[in-house]
Amino acid sequence: MNLEKHNQRMQLLADVTYKIRQSLDLHEILQTTVTEVRQLLDADRVVMFQIHPDGAGTVVQEAVLPGWSKSINQNIVDTCFGTRFIDSYQNGRVSAISDVEKACITPCHADLLRQFEVKANLVIPIISQGQLWGLLIAHQCSAPREWQAFEVDLLKQLADQAGIALAQAKLLADLDQAHQQLRFHVENSPLAVIEWDHACRIQRWSAQAERIFGWSAAEVIGRGPDHWFIHTDDLHLFREHVLNLTGHPFPNEANPDIEQLTRNYTKAGDLIDCEWYSSALFDEESNLVSILSMAQDVSARQQAEAALQQLNRELEMRVEQRTAALQESEQRFRSLFEAAPDFIYVLNTKGVIQHVNPVVIERSGYRKSELEGHPFIHLFAPKSQVLCQQHFADLLAQGSHRQELEFVGKNGKILTVDCSFKVVKDRLGQTSILVVQRDISDRKALERIKDEFISVVSHELRTPLTSIHGSIKLLATGQLGNLSDDGQQMLDIADQNTDRLVRLVSDVLDLQRIESGQAKICKQLCDAADLMTHATDAMRSMAYHHNVTLKSTPLLTMVWANPDYMVQTLTNLLSNAIKFSQPGGTVELAAELRIEERRVKDNLSQPNRPDTRLPFSIKHTELWFQVIDQGQGIPADKLECVFERFQQVDASDAREKGGTGLGLAICRKIVEQHGGKIWAESVLGQGSCFFVALPMSCWLVEKAEVSESVVPPTLS
Ligand code: ADP
Repeated sequence: MNLEKHNQRMQLLADVTYKIRQSLDLHEILQTTVTEVRQLLDADRVVMFQIHPDGAGTVVQEAVLPGWSKSINQNIVDTCFGTRFIDSYQNGRVSAISDVEKACITPCHADLLRQFEVKANLVIPIISQGQLWGLLIAHQCSAPREWQAFEVDLLKQLADQAGIALAQAKLLADLDQAHQQLRFHVENSPLAVIEWDHACRIQRWSAQAERIFGWSAAEVIGRGPDHWFIHTDDLHLFREHVLNLTGHPFPNEANPDIEQLTRNYTKAGDLIDCEWYSSALFDEESNLVSILSMAQDVSARQQAEAALQQLNRELEMRVEQRTAALQESEQRFRSLFEAAPDFIYVLNTKGVIQHVNPVVIERSGYRKSELEGHPFIHLFAPKSQVLCQQHFADLLAQGSHRQELEFVGKNGKILTVDCSFKVVKDRLGQTSILVVQRDISDRKALERIKDEFISVVSHELRTPLTSIHGSIKLLATGQLGNLSDDGQQMLDIADQNTDRLVRLVSDVLDLQRIESGQAKICKQLCDAADLMTHATDAMRSMAYHHNVTLKSTPLLTMVWANPDYMVQTLTNLLSNAIKFSQPGGTVELAAELRIEERRVKDNLSQPNRPDTRLPFSIKHTELWFQVIDQGQGIPADKLECVFERFQQVDASDAREKGGTGLGLAICRKIVEQHGGKIWAESVLGQGSCFFVALPMSCWLVEKAEVSESVVPPTLS
């Protein structure tokens, strides 16, 4: 009978276990368990009490006979029961109370049970995956009940089964969640996700794949990679790629994701560049399960890369061309620098020599070390050093300068040289001064011989000419007898020509004397107004004969000049202005003070005095004379050359106006000897204006208008 009972119970247990294990749904498992257990024990209530980590718990499932209170979803925080029992339940404690009223339990525990009309209860722990999940509790509410050992045993086994089922359900839920996550990532990946089966047919086609390629999953599932999808030329690449993957079990370290670039078609027929990353999945027997590919459309990137490469190529080509051009120009410059017959120096802004070309070393006698790193001006005679210093500051402001200087070679020989200074800036913005020095000693010597010759000839001509001129003049007066009309006419012509010849000889001599320095131009403090009055007075009769009005507005200011030479200059300009004016015209002599503020960046004239090298500005004052006429004017291209010897706008001017073509050349020499400038401006047919600018020292500017009896400054 016992065996039969045992068999029946085993059968019952197997049935209930089967029902419990039939489902993998947590809710269903719990529901089945409580229902079956209540029926099996014929209890009034059976509950599943899930215990939380803090020791509290919730009734998550309940099977209760009608008439008894429901405890489902009740959160029970039993302070008496509490965590004290958790450890013992974890260790398999079973509690069977046959009569709550008589049991040896705490009053609050008894109260809690009474709350649910419990007369007897049986509590079995449910252990799932080694952890206490909760309790399976059977209540008898109608009357106390003596729990049988087999009932306790049965319940324990069912609790074990429930524990296993719960563990499985949890595993399944975890798996399901992982699957859901994977699915979410696949569908939301910015890459197209495509899964191929072992025969390379599409199994999975993500939403992004649909977006990139245009086909829906339904249209492509089951199809293999072929002409419809991959460009014919790239098919073999793709196949090789897949073959490569399938040859090796995955995952392993030797077989990482393999990358591949192919041209793929879209449903619309467009060709796009795709980058593929694929990996193969094998089962435990190394059979290929599937290949997972991820693809992205890299057409835009490819195009950008191609454009960038093209740009790089063009840039490289341009750099190469530019470098070649630069090298060539540098080479050209270097050969020029090295082969030039002139001395070439590169100076820094302090006037110190940085480089010299080979010809300087060959011909000057100085060693390279005696030149480079030394002041440039030390190569010149003392007078030239002063000139150099004077012009150095201006050079930086103006950019270029030209000067005749006396160069002293290593052997002490003095050469006259023509130096061209040019301020240059390199690519890094560094300023240097390039000096090209040409030896003009031979030319100077020739000029000297020529000038001497002219001087001698002119000198020798002057005395007989003056006497001839006097004789002709005497003849022309008729004091030595009357001539026929023709004879008188011839004599007048001879008189005019000898007159011109005398002036010419005297001009030539003048010019030569000024140029050679024979004529000493001694300056003194003189009144500009006086100079102007003298000049206009001298020209008044000529103006009268030409029927030209002569105007002058003398300026009361003192100027440091040679009065005779200045009057000669102004007279010459006035005589030209009258000569080239129409009868009835006006010629004006005016004067004014011009003040110009010049900013000097680096005082190079004082290279050894660092305190004077700071930027500063100087007021530069000049006295400007202007001779203005309303005559025929001078063409723009002749404005400069009229200051050269024997240069006339019209060759007939000499004859018709009685000029020599030397007047302006003499004026320029005189003005230059005063450290000034002379130039002309003109509008053809309207008139000309000749300017003479003389430098004024600050001292003169301040004192000039105050007193006329000023003491001239010393030249030091
Ligand atoms: P010249 O003795 O011939 O006047 P200059 O050297 O004084 O010699 O002048 C050179 C030339 O410049 C003149 O021949 C003339 O052609 C031109 N020239 C000078 N002054 C004037 C002027 N005020 N108006 C027009 N032409 C002028």
